[in-house]
Amino acid sequence: MNESIERVKCLIIGSGPAGYTAAIYAARADLKPVMYTGMEPGGQLTTTTEVDNFPGYPDGIDGPTMMVQLQQQAERFGTEVRIGMVTEVEFSDQVGGIHKITVDNTTKLEAETVIISTGATAKYLGIPSEQKLRGGGVSACAVCDGFFYKGQDVAIVGAGDTAAEEATYLANICKKVTMLVRKDYMRASKAMQHRVNNTKNLEVLYNTEVDEVLGEQVVEGLRMVNNLTGEKKEIPITGLFIAIGHKPNTEIFKGQLEMDDTGYLITHSKSTKTNKPGVFASGDVQDKEYRQAVTAAGTGCMAALDAERYLATIETEVTA
Ligand SMILES: Cc1cc2nc3c(=O)[nH]c(=O)nc-3n(C[C@H](O)[C@H](O)[C@H](O)COP(=O)(O)OP(=O)(O)OC[C@H]3O[C@@H](n4cnc5c(N)ncnc54)[C@H](O)[C@@H]3O)c2cc1C
Repeated sequence: MNESIERVKCLIIGSGPAGYTAAIYAARADLKPVMYTGMEPGGQLTTTTEVDNFPGYPDGIDGPTMMVQLQQQAERFGTEVRIGMVTEVEFSDQVGGIHKITVDNTTKLEAETVIISTGATAKYLGIPSEQKLRGGGVSACAVCDGFFYKGQDVAIVGAGDTAAEEATYLANICKKVTMLVRKDYMRASKAMQHRVNNTKNLEVLYNTEVDEVLGEQVVEGLRMVNNLTGEKKEIPITGLFIAIGHKPNTEIFKGQLEMDDTGYLITHSKSTKTNKPGVFASGDVQDKEYRQAVTAAGTGCMAALDAERYLATIETEVTA
């Protein structure tokens, strides 16, 4: 063995709610976890102001504060949190095999278990007015932020199942929802389209795109453009929801771990196990269904327990 290469019992990739929860459990089980934070220490919640639905915060909490507290809790039990991006992995196929990890293209590590919590990144339209008002009324999560627009007029952009689901979710809370669909049809399933079309306060505008989100500090309106006629129209809204998809952060695992056709990691039989022994996945990177902080935290807990049990099994086999 090369003595200069550090070996860790449990390596955690990613510092969102899944990664920190895995760290808390792994540290308390004496797995001495080492975490690499990636480019976004604290994960997606650091991009939002108000988190109102995480259990245990009766008055809500702002996302960045919540993530600092999770880090402190993980460190209290001995998690070593390091700034760095995992850039390459070489996972072993063997039970008890050692996984090789490269950080920032230079530092090499070996790990007995790996917990992947690299999350998924919400896609945005990328226009300047949208970017300016992110967190000021522009959101990529209706379930997270819809409640703040109770009784108000909002718009949603997207045409798939998630967009249709989120549009009907918003329609339950908001006064009126305008849904912008770029093409002349929706990609959502027939059943979802049926739900959309039967929701009274939900209006679908086809061949329609965002021209500009109006407002300086917060969203005050939306200028839309019909992409067939070029006709522009303004509507007053207080919230704009972008539901055009998420990209799971799984680029570096391609060719090594099983993924679905959209790049989400596949976990097996109600666990966080991937197709490689000793490699576990938790949080949004393996969940395109729920994508909430509390569900990410739940699977982070599962991943640490799975890693602990995996190590215990190997140790038992070695000593038997
Ligand atoms: C605007 C917004 C508001 C939201 N509001 C709420 C809310 O109010 N309530 C709620 O429950 N949910 C909310 N969500 C959803 C919630 O943020 C996610 O479900 C949750 O953060 C997922 O946690 P995660 O740990 O799986 O991943 P993430 O939070 O996405 O964290 C991923 C982590 O992986 C790291 N990473 C990625 N690649 C690498 C790599 N190669 N090497 C090392 N690290 C890497 C990143 O730096 C990051 O730290 C919101 C999401 C958004 C975008």
